[in-house]
Amino acid sequence: MNHARKHFVQFVQVTDFLTVSSMHECIACWKCVEACPRGVLGKVNFLWHKHAKLSNPGNCIGCGKCAAVCPQSIFSLNKKTR
Ligand code: SF4
Ligand code: SF4
Repeated sequence: MNHARKHFVQFVQVTDFLTVSSMHECIACWKCVEACPRGVLGKVNFLWHKHAKLSNPGNCIGCGKCAAVCPQSIFSLNKKTR
Protein backbone atom coordinates (compact mmCIF):
# COMPACT_ATOMS: atom_id res chain seq x y z
CA MET A 1 0.00 0.00 0.00
CA ASN A 2 1.22 3.47 -0.84
CA HIS A 3 1.43 5.63 2.25
CA ALA A 4 3.05 8.57 0.49
CA ARG A 5 -0.14 10.57 0.53
CA LYS A 6 -1.61 10.67 3.97
CA HIS A 7 -5.25 11.49 4.23
CA PHE A 8 -6.78 13.15 7.23
CA VAL A 9 -7.10 10.37 9.75
CA GLN A 10 -10.74 9.51 10.26
CA PHE A 11 -10.26 6.34 12.23
CA VAL A 12 -7.48 5.85 14.68
CA GLN A 13 -6.82 2.57 16.40
CA VAL A 14 -6.00 3.63 19.87
CA THR A 15 -5.84 0.46 21.89
CA ASP A 16 -5.43 -3.20 21.01
CA PHE A 17 -9.15 -3.61 21.50
CA LEU A 18 -10.81 -0.37 20.60
CA THR A 19 -11.05 1.96 17.65
CA VAL A 20 -12.11 5.53 18.21
CA SER A 21 -13.43 7.56 15.32
CA SER A 22 -13.12 11.30 15.12
CA MET A 23 -14.08 13.04 18.33
CA HIS A 24 -15.64 15.79 16.23
CA GLU A 25 -18.90 13.95 16.66
CA CYS A 26 -18.61 13.79 20.44
CA ILE A 27 -21.37 15.65 22.29
CA ALA A 28 -19.59 15.46 25.66
CA CYS A 29 -22.34 13.52 27.43
CA TRP A 30 -19.61 11.71 29.44
CA LYS A 31 -21.48 8.41 29.34
CA CYS A 32 -18.37 6.61 28.14
CA VAL A 33 -16.25 8.14 30.89
CA GLU A 34 -18.73 6.96 33.52
CA ALA A 35 -19.15 3.52 31.94
CA CYS A 36 -15.48 2.60 31.59
CA PRO A 37 -14.40 0.34 34.46
CA ARG A 38 -10.70 0.96 33.85
CA GLY A 39 -10.40 4.72 33.75
CA VAL A 40 -9.33 4.64 30.13
CA LEU A 41 -11.44 7.59 29.12
CA GLY A 42 -11.16 11.16 30.30
CA LYS A 43 -12.55 14.58 29.51
CA VAL A 44 -11.37 17.57 27.58
CA ASN A 45 -13.70 19.99 29.31
CA PHE A 46 -13.26 23.62 28.41
CA LEU A 47 -16.22 25.96 28.04
CA TRP A 48 -15.77 26.18 24.31
CA HIS A 49 -14.20 22.84 23.64
CA LYS A 50 -15.47 19.57 25.09
CA HIS A 51 -14.93 15.99 24.04
CA ALA A 52 -13.90 12.66 25.47
CA LYS A 53 -10.29 11.60 25.22
CA LEU A 54 -8.16 8.57 25.91
CA SER A 55 -6.33 9.12 29.15
CA ASN A 56 -4.99 5.62 29.72
CA PRO A 57 -5.24 3.57 26.52
CA GLY A 58 -3.05 0.84 27.97
CA ASN A 59 -5.70 0.03 30.55
CA CYS A 60 -8.36 -0.88 28.00
CA ILE A 61 -9.63 -4.46 28.31
CA GLY A 62 -12.01 -4.32 25.38
CA CYS A 63 -15.14 -4.75 27.47
CA GLY A 64 -17.17 -2.64 25.04
CA LYS A 65 -19.03 -0.63 27.65
CA CYS A 66 -18.03 2.66 26.08
CA ALA A 67 -19.27 1.49 22.69
CA ALA A 68 -22.57 0.37 24.22
CA VAL A 69 -23.39 3.73 25.79
CA CYS A 70 -22.08 6.25 23.28
CA PRO A 71 -24.98 7.92 21.43
CA GLN A 72 -22.64 9.02 18.66
CA SER A 73 -21.18 5.59 17.87
CA ILE A 74 -17.67 6.86 18.34
CA PHE A 75 -16.25 3.59 19.66
CA SER A 76 -15.98 0.23 17.97
CA LEU A 77 -14.32 -2.92 19.17
CA ASN A 78 -11.51 -4.44 17.17
CA LYS A 79 -11.51 -8.06 16.10
CA LYS A 80 -8.38 -8.71 18.05
CA THR A 81 -8.74 -10.50 21.37
CA ARG A 82 -6.25 -11.36 24.05
S1 SF4 B 1 -13.61 -1.05 25.91
FE1 SF4 B 1 -14.05 -1.06 28.15
S2 SF4 B 1 -12.05 -0.72 29.11
FE2 SF4 B 1 -11.82 -0.12 26.96
S3 SF4 B 1 -12.24 2.11 26.94
FE3 SF4 B 1 -14.19 1.06 26.50
S4 SF4 B 1 -15.22 0.85 28.49
FE4 SF4 B 1 -13.04 1.30 28.89
S1 SF4 C 1 -20.29 8.64 25.17
FE1 SF4 C 1 -19.73 9.29 23.09
S2 SF4 C 1 -20.67 11.33 22.84
FE2 SF4 C 1 -20.66 10.85 25.06
S3 SF4 C 1 -18.73 11.76 25.85
FE3 SF4 C 1 -18.28 9.61 25.29
S4 SF4 C 1 -17.51 9.73 23.16
FE4 SF4 C 1 -18.57 11.66 23.59
